[in-house]
This record gives sequence, structure tokens and C-alpha cells, in this order.
Amino acid sequence: MSVVKVSELGVYGEGELTFGGSYVPEMLQGALDKVAEAFLQYKDDPEFIAEYRYYMKEYVGRPNPLYYAKNLSEQLGGAKIYLKREDLNHTGAHKINNTIGQILLAKRMGAKRIIAETGAGQHGVATATVAALMNIPCTIYMGEVDTKRQALNVFRMELLGAKVVAAKSGNRTLKEAVDEALMDFAQNAEDTFYLLGSAVGPHPYPLMVRHFQSIIGQEAKEQILEKEGRLPDYVMACVGGGSNAIGLFYPFVDDLSVKMIGVEPGGRGIDTGYHAAPLTAGKPDIIHGFKCYVMDDADKCHSIAAGLDYPGVGPEHSYYKAIGRAEYVSVNDGEALDAFQRLSKTEGIIPALESSHAVAYAMKLAPTLSNDQIIVINLSGRGDKDVAQVAEMLGADLSE
Ligand SMILES: *Cc1c(COP(=O)(O)O)cnc(C)c1O
Repeated sequence: MSVVKVSELGVYGEGELTFGGSYVPEMLQGALDKVAEAFLQYKDDPEFIAEYRYYMKEYVGRPNPLYYAKNLSEQLGGAKIYLKREDLNHTGAHKINNTIGQILLAKRMGAKRIIAETGAGQHGVATATVAALMNIPCTIYMGEVDTKRQALNVFRMELLGAKVVAAKSGNRTLKEAVDEALMDFAQNAEDTFYLLGSAVGPHPYPLMVRHFQSIIGQEAKEQILEKEGRLPDYVMACVGGGSNAIGLFYPFVDDLSVKMIGVEPGGRGIDTGYHAAPLTAGKPDIIHGFKCYVMDDADKCHSIAAGLDYPGVGPEHSYYKAIGRAEYVSVNDGEALDAFQRLSKTEGIIPALESSHAVAYAMKLAPTLSNDQIIVINLSGRGDKDVAQVAEMLGADLSE
């Protein structure tokens, strides 16, 4: 029997402390029910699986390697560190695993239009990519402030043929983009599919995103068994909404000897309030239509890594924390920036600032372990997108 207890309505856990579910207006619930029904209908359908696998292999480039980071491991002295190379996927991160899965489902549901919301723009780009691939019109909602901060990603989405709509209410950031996307979905559910980017939101999204991202952990498990003949001692990943982490963790969840560590962004330091670490410093609440741990002061939500900048977290991680199956720790901006440089110099791999959080924690943990222990880190994305930001933070002068 699995340690994961989830109801048909996407409620994780039993008794007093449960997570997930669906807390949305009735009009939206109808649209969500249709998605849930289609997901259950197709997820085990052999043709659907074959098509998903086809694109994973031919378009995304899977399986990607589980790379033994020999230099880093030897330099740190202690556990052997392996990197699951999601950074090598087409579009440079794990997000494409999920957007391919969901757009194949949208196609089967007869969707004529795809909508999504994006904060930093990475999910918007991954969605615009698959919408182009499947030739389905696509609208991406983005807070007006974010469209200015992430102008390059806006241009990428437009190059890919998507329409980017700036959300102009309230603080004009992710929250407003989510509100507008949900309203669009409720009003146009007949022909529109809402493609959600992380293991968050109302049922069935957390379950569905986990399903499509689990390919990460399935491959990693096979690969480590082949290379080492045994399971790892630790699996580790950064946690924003939690999709890359749950994708790595879930296939190991019933292997109780494997410790799972989720690394949240500690931002400027947990005690400053400026972080995005609800599992480290937050409490159960409802946000964006589902129940999870939420930061005490969501207005202070901050991380050096734009992709981790979310005040809530997936319900399944909330549940793992509550039952003690996974441990959640935090790493602050400066430590992530150090890890970004350290991995670049030791292995010749520039990690995303998001992934650098997981690397930073492994750098602390590995030296305390012995040489026969194994850590698998999910390298969720590559850092090319972050190079200009890092140059500015390090005071490099890039002008001629
Ligand atoms: C979006 C993103 C994340 C954070 O999202 P999760 O849902 O927590 O995985 C992490 N790493 C990269 C490279 C990303 O683009």
C-alpha cells in the first residue's frame, strides 16, 4: 500500500489536516470536472501513453542523462552526487514534460484554444512551444509588471505565435494573471483548455502535473539502479510550486530508505519575511482554489529565482511534510548564487537559479555523509536565462 493517500476529489490526507481539493466558484467547477474526467479516461490509455512517449523522446530529447558529478563530489568530499539533467530538455527545463502531456489531453478533449498564466514567463514559453507544435491558438496571461520585467520571454512567446495579455488589475503580477486566466476558463470552457504549469491549483491539476512529471523519477530510478545497483540515499530538488520535485520524488515515495528533501527559496533570509518558503515558514490555508501551506505574508514573496517566487506550494508536498515523508529546508539567495557559480566552475554546467537552490543544499549535506552514500539532485533547468541577471548582481560590466 502506498504512503500517499489521495481521494477521488484530489484531497490529500485524512482527518483534520488535509490538503488540495477544489475551492472554486461553481461555474469553474464544471470546467475542472471535465478536465478531471478526461485525465482519468486517457492517462492509462495505451495510445495516449504512446503519443506522450513519442514526443518525450523525439521532441524533448528524453531520456536525459543521470550524470555523476565526479568533480563536485570529490571536491566536497563525502557522498556521491548525481545530477538528473532536465536542463538538457528542449526549452531547457522540466516544464515541457507537463505542457506536452496536457496539450495532448487538450487535443483529445477537442480544445480549440489553450490558455495559461505565467509569472516569470517560463511556463508561458513552454506552453506557447507546445501550442505551436500542435497548431492550437494560445493566449498567455501575464501581470503587466511581469511583462516589463520579462520582456524577452514575452517576445519569445510572441515568436512562437502566442498572444500575451497583460493583466492590469491589482498589483499586476502573477495573482492577477491567475485570476484573469481562471475567469477566461470559466467563461469559455466549451472550447478552451487551461494549461497549468506546476503541481498546484484545484483538482485535478496537482495530480495531473505529478503524473506527467513523474517521468523524471522513473528514469532516475532506472538509471541509478543501472549505475550503482541500488537506490539513492537522498533525492533532492528545488520547490517553487513543486512540480519538478514531485516528479522526482513520487516514484521513490514508497521506497522508505530514500530520503526526500525539498529545497525552498529562503530569499533574503526566512526571518526577514522576504522569501517564498511556505513549507519552512507558513501555515495551512487556501490559495488559488486549493489548500496547502501558504506564506504568512504573501506580499513579501521573493526569491532570486523568478521561477520559485510563489507564496503557496503543491498540496502533495504539504501532505508529505505533514506526515513526515519528506523534509523541507531552505537556502537563501546568496547561497543559491554561490552554488550557481560553483557548479559552473567545477562541472562546466550552468544551472538555473532555481535548480541552484537544490545544488546549494547538496553542497552543505554531502560533506557530512560518507563516500558510499548517494545523492540525486534534480537539475530542473539550465542557467542561460539567468546569466544577464547574475552578471548584474556580481557587478560585471557587459557594456562595450
Ligand atoms: C519553473 C521552474 C521551477 C519551479 O517550478 P516547480 O513547479 O517547483 O518545479 C524550477 N526550476 C526551473 C528551471 C523552472 O523553470
